[in-house]
Amino acid sequence: MSSNLNGKVAVITGGGGILCSTMAKALAKEGAKVAVLDLKAENAELVAQEISAAGGVAIGVACNVLDVNSIKDAHAIVLEKLGACDILINGAGGNHPKGTTSGTHLIAEEVDAQTEGLRTFFDLDPEGIKFVFDLNFIGSLLPTQVFAKDMVSKPGSVIINISSMNAFRPLTKIPAYSGAKAAISNFTQWLATHFSKVGIRVNALAPGFFLTEQNRTLLTNADGSLTARGNTIIEHTPMGRFGTADDLTGTLLWLCGDGSEFVTGVVVPVDGGFSAFSGV
Ligand code: NAD
Repeated sequence: MSSNLNGKVAVITGGGGILCSTMAKALAKEGAKVAVLDLKAENAELVAQEISAAGGVAIGVACNVLDVNSIKDAHAIVLEKLGACDILINGAGGNHPKGTTSGTHLIAEEVDAQTEGLRTFFDLDPEGIKFVFDLNFIGSLLPTQVFAKDMVSKPGSVIINISSMNAFRPLTKIPAYSGAKAAISNFTQWLATHFSKVGIRVNALAPGFFLTEQNRTLLTNADGSLTARGNTIIEHTPMGRFGTADDLTGTLLWLCGDGSEFVTGVVVPVDGGFSAFSGV
């Protein structure tokens, strides 16, 4: 990979997390100056310190992607310390148990059952659904409003959103997360079109299944063996394994650099073939 990101300013929300901290480090290795934004300031700071210790340029910045004033404060810090943004990665995102059903299919007997731990479609909490839509969709839209103004007519400007497998076809149990990521894929296409005359390319990564803290207990048991859901995923992933954060960096760097200068509005699966496989 050529280091055509030299001196570019990259802003990555959720940069203190598992996947995005790896992306932040990959961008820094290619010469980008990286602003690691996260709700958890200490995690953002830690990632920035690791990048600096490895010889890169990075700052950690506290930022809540759901609070415009917090994003504006982060923007001011980035502008002062690193300069205007060239690359924005909307990485903050996730699911919530209150937007998740406990079962894969509704069973008639469960409709009025008061069983501990049972959450059918009818029990889904609108607050949980709203949390997930806000975090994933609004949490990508607001940072784009704040940071993309600097990118208008700035050559080489790029926005990367983070979609998911469940945007193509919904995964069972997680209707809010599936819907919110579908909205992200749709928004990526919309924004790519809207920004096409001002030179900002907008694309998305759709990671397959990566073992992280958010999904570890869903996919693996305490002894490290796979849960039924974990097994189903591996059986439906032609390459037969979960992804590792490093699997995303090649596609990320391609989408951020000049090698993709005629590419906008795409959602690239990085999924070991999951989205290509019919299951039979
Ligand atoms: P993660 O939980 O490790 O990282 C998410 C980060 O976002 C955390 O550091 C968290 O503190 C931060 N965050 C949460 N709320 C925030 C807010 N309001 N403002 C700012 N930061 C906030 O999760 P991850 O697995 O690394 O996920 C990164 C992205 O990739 C997410 O958008 C996720 O939906 C997406 N994704 C993950 C997978 C997977 O298999 N792990 C698959 C597809 C997509």
